[in-house]
Amino acid sequence: MLHGNNLALADYHIHPDFSIDARGSIDDYCRAAIDKGLAEICFTTHYDSNPKAPQSDGMIRIDGTKVPLSFEAIGRYADAVAGASEKYSPEGLEVQCGIEVGYYPGCEELIVELFNKFPFHYKLGAIHDIGDICLCCEHLFKNCFSRLSLEDMADKYFGLVAKAVNSGLFDAIAHLDVYKKYGMRYYGDAILTIHRGRVEPILTLMAANGVGVELNTSALRKGHSEYYPSMEIVNLARNAGVHIAALGSDAHTPADVGFDFDSAATIAYELFPYCDE
Ligand SMILES: [Zn+2]
Ligand SMILES: [Zn+2]
Repeated sequence: MLHGNNLALADYHIHPDFSIDARGSIDDYCRAAIDKGLAEICFTTHYDSNPKAPQSDGMIRIDGTKVPLSFEAIGRYADAVAGASEKYSPEGLEVQCGIEVGYYPGCEELIVELFNKFPFHYKLGAIHDIGDICLCCEHLFKNCFSRLSLEDMADKYFGLVAKAVNSGLFDAIAHLDVYKKYGMRYYGDAILTIHRGRVEPILTLMAANGVGVELNTSALRKGHSEYYPSMEIVNLARNAGVHIAALGSDAHTPADVGFDFDSAATIAYELFPYCDE
């Protein structure tokens, strides 16, 4: 029987307050992770730099002030995580520096430059915008969805995921069916099966490119009964040979670190092969 206390659980999707929509310092998250008995965490601050989506993108918080994203600002973030890594390693917590890039077509050159400058331990690619409007922001999703039928929205979303996968930039795709976050409210239950026939070619592409899928537990905090992605998609991913890269809470506040990981670990059993009994 799997049990969290016996596992070296790692949370690979955490937003410290460098992300403008998050609360809690890097120290706060590290202490929360230690309190919860996690062995490892990976910070994944936002790097959303779509110049055509300034409503939701392009900012980072440094010393309590929102400033435009820049390599200098990312340097401050990377230094802070490196400091925490040194500080908490003796306490038994490994601290890694990752990034969550909001992918948009045309960002490739900039992101290559970013990754050359900062050798992130874990590079998450995420689709946050369709048609340059945020699909997963509470104040913008209606603007995004009102232009699109459910089918068109799904076609466009998965088309963007395919481009992100093909870019070769990312270790994993974040919250693969995140369109359901507010889309469930907007389009209704039909959204829960809209991946059928659309996600399979994407999964084949992911397997061919060695891009993993994360199991993101934050969907439960938004009233969904399954994670991102749903079990149906997780099973399709396994059948296609896509690996589960990590568990992620997508915490935007320290209390959410490791959220629902005891259950998530039983689904992502391949991350814990040494615990097979
Ligand atoms: Zn995201
Ligand atoms: Zn995130």
